[in-house]
Amino acid sequence: MRIALPESGLLSQAKIECDWKLKNILSNYKQVIQQKLEKAANLIQFMKEFKNLLEESYKVKLGTTSGIDDAFSLSFKEILPQLDDIGWENVDNIDDLFTSIRLVKRDLKSRHHYINTRFLQEEEICTPVFTTDLPIPLHLPKAKYQSLKFSIKESYHYFCEAIELCQAFFDVMDEIDKNTWVLEPQKASRASKERRFCLGKNISVQIDVNPYYPSTIPQYRFFGTDHNVSLLKQKLNNNLQLWNERKSLLTNLQKILEISIPSPTNSQKEEFITPCGICCGYRLNATLPDKVCDYSLCEKQFHSLCLLEWLKTLPSSRTSFSVIHGQCPYCKKPLNHYKLGSNCGYEFCDVNGLLGIGMVYKIQQH
Ligand SMILES: [Zn+2]
Ligand SMILES: [Zn+2]
Repeated sequence: MRIALPESGLLSQAKIECDWKLKNILSNYKQVIQQKLEKAANLIQFMKEFKNLLEESYKVKLGTTSGIDDAFSLSFKEILPQLDDIGWENVDNIDDLFTSIRLVKRDLKSRHHYINTRFLQEEEICTPVFTTDLPIPLHLPKAKYQSLKFSIKESYHYFCEAIELCQAFFDVMDEIDKNTWVLEPQKASRASKERRFCLGKNISVQIDVNPYYPSTIPQYRFFGTDHNVSLLKQKLNNNLQLWNERKSLLTNLQKILEISIPSPTNSQKEEFITPCGICCGYRLNATLPDKVCDYSLCEKQFHSLCLLEWLKTLPSSRTSFSVIHGQCPYCKKPLNHYKLGSNCGYEFCDVNGLLGIGMVYKIQQH
């Protein structure tokens, strides 16, 4: 702001100029400011009172919509110098009320990563809540980030360190996204450790990559006909010792599964992504068909959920334990289907790579 005094030196005739943001904050205080100018003994006294008024008006402006009080004003004063240090080019967004800040970190490969800080006001305490798009938890010293005098700069520092740590993981995921037909997730965030992608016609794999050890063999789950799935599992177990952690995940997968994974450069999406044979749709709850008829001349694809509903309506279907035995809606050949939630978890190989053991790692519905 700029204060211009008249030649007479009278404060009451002074002119105050400021930018639009400050103008906006002070819009309801024109009269009060005029009174303060008239009553102040000198310019320094006016400036002190003006400062108090400014703080008060800012508080009211925030308080009218979010009830934020002194604690927040204090945080506000602490945050700005920290943002100066972090560099404003790394500030991606600040909401109008200054209740959340999103910072960006560009890594060496120009990937963008975000950390969002939201300020929660509870009574006297203003607590920052951090969310990131990291695949690993952001470990912050508890005492520091929970106190009022938390350091946003420090949390950004820890965030940048975590990004460094995950570089190999991001490389692996980028390689998959670029070179395969990814079926799920439809739009993967940087935090997502899972990908389901095509291995060939009517066969796909879902993997869960370990962000700390991305070059080790991931947890996996195959989708396809029983015949194709058992063939791939057999190859995986037989060739496991060929897994080389110095090579990329896709190179290793192709080697041990003895296949060439279709990529957007040498194939068309339509060759691998077909609609559900029951609902005729592609995505159901964001999932593409994940169950294939085992009969080699049929190999129709279905959503697990659609197939389950279909089998339930067939009088000839019977259930034993968690498996429903019925018929394919197309070729009428026998078809077995696990009930949802049973036996649809990941499998994994032990870290030493000695033997692939089909163990259910976690139950997950698809
Ligand atoms: Zn369906
Ligand atoms: Zn069939």
